Amino acid sequence: MIGKKFGRANGNRAVESGQLAKAAQLAPVAENGRIQGKKNAESGHMQRIQEVGASLGGKAAAAAHPNHIFEITTYETRAKGGVAGSHVNWHVNRGKPNPAKCELCRRELKEKLQQKLSAVNVGAAEPQGSNQQ
Ligand SMILES: [Zn+2]
Repeated sequence: MIGKKFGRANGNRAVESGQLAKAAQLAPVAENGRIQGKKNAESGHMQRIQEVGASLGGKAAAAAHPNHIFEITTYETRAKGGVAGSHVNWHVNRGKPNPAKCELCRRELKEKLQQKLSAVNVGAAEPQGSNQQ
């Protein structure tokens, strides 16, 4: 009711004062966001809600603990991660294992062979056992 009665008049006023044009622009909204963001940072609000949250997001975590990745990993584990990533990219995903150069390919090949061998051995052992009885 009130909107129907005053809506048109308020709309006209918003157009005449330039309030409508200002509200439709993106720049003031972005500017307000920057202002509020700075206030949140200065008041410690951002820090508080990040600590309350289950975990810090990637960039926030990196900013809060710049050496964290070095604390939870060693050179060896990082190197292994790179090797594993390369192995998955080049050998697993493409279906082109390279046991001559890749330790992980060798390991997987060996495991597959052992599984096949044990399957053959189990298959061979059972009939023998049944034959002896
Ligand atoms: Zn590989």
